[in-house]
Amino acid sequence: MNARADFPFFSAVDDVPVYLDNAATTQKPACVLDAVRNFYERTNANIHRGAHRLSREATDAHEAARSSVAQFLHAPSAREVLFTSGCTEGINLVAQTLVYSGLLKAGDDILVSSDAHHSNIVPWQILAERVGANLRPVPLTPDLHFDMQAFLSMLNRKTRMVAIPVVSNALGLRLPVEDITKAAHDAGALVLLDGAQSAAHEPTDVQTLGCDFFAFSGHKVYAPTGTGVLWGRQELLEMLPPWKTGGEMIHEVSFERTSFNQLPFKFEAGTPNICGDITLAVALNYIRHLGFSAIHAHEQSLISELCSGLGQLPHVQLLGGASARASLVSVHVPGVHHYDLGTLLDQMGIAVRTGHHCCQPLMQSLGITGTTRFSVAVYNHASDIERALQAFDKALSMLR
Ligand code: PMP
Repeated sequence: MNARADFPFFSAVDDVPVYLDNAATTQKPACVLDAVRNFYERTNANIHRGAHRLSREATDAHEAARSSVAQFLHAPSAREVLFTSGCTEGINLVAQTLVYSGLLKAGDDILVSSDAHHSNIVPWQILAERVGANLRPVPLTPDLHFDMQAFLSMLNRKTRMVAIPVVSNALGLRLPVEDITKAAHDAGALVLLDGAQSAAHEPTDVQTLGCDFFAFSGHKVYAPTGTGVLWGRQELLEMLPPWKTGGEMIHEVSFERTSFNQLPFKFEAGTPNICGDITLAVALNYIRHLGFSAIHAHEQSLISELCSGLGQLPHVQLLGGASARASLVSVHVPGVHHYDLGTLLDQMGIAVRTGHHCCQPLMQSLGITGTTRFSVAVYNHASDIERALQAFDKALSMLR
């Protein structure tokens, strides 16, 4: 795969680093950058409320983007696709509207995985506090996989919501989300999948996954920051009350009462990120054009090279052991601080992420403060991995 030529970032300046921080955010292909410029040069107008040509064109482009996202997710209807500012906002939308939906009550259980990102823990924690529900973390096995046996034993008729990542952002391990979803549904619970670390790397089919909600961020799928999607099953979205309120989400307003717009607009108050949403669809089309099988083959070869190289370095522990990884790997080196490693790697022109990766409960359970995380994307080359491994080895020899 030679996707790098599609990304101006890698040729714009001379001192571009080896970029292996793709799980945090991705660089943007020229088609996305062009689409941003094109929108503001040719189509920019507010949507929905204008009689003029530009407003109609912008509205059509925005709704076409929604249909493209629906296709990308294999959603039954574009009305189920809500544009958000990112994965965090999508999860908050569900957690905060469930409070008033009657779907969750005092004494109910909300299950999250122990390797969840804070954005898939804290909204549920606050929800649980508000309604008197219980937030229950599902433990990991000793080799850091989702503990299916423990999960099955925790499921009961009080379980209302199961919120889990498809791929954990700190460990890079994929959860058996299809089996988890089925078991959760058999117990009568709803399932929210956090697709932040899967959407750019594997095909998403919300109907096959069988989940009730699926959230992801645009900036991790080669689209601009401030974009994202929450997909939800139509009958559930109909049951959830409006969230943010204001323009566009209403049907009729008087000082006595307000009636609300139909889906998806009920959840999209105010002027949306019109250009961002349109260019998110451009990014998803770019991914489709590369093809998930080619993406998978390319990223897997990079990750296995990375894992085998890291595994050969003395004292380096791969979190999750020898398991297959999605698109990232986290390492811990006893006695060496991850921040020092990250700083030295940066000085050698390698961009990686260090720290707790917004997974403090996981780090606490591992008895560490953080890890050094390498994450790949379509534009990385085998030479990036070689350079990163050499630099890592050198950094370790300086620190140990
Ligand atoms: N979930 C996971 C698994 C993530 O990796 C991230 C981002 N690191 C998020 C949620 C939150 O995404 P955002 O900050 O783009 O809303």
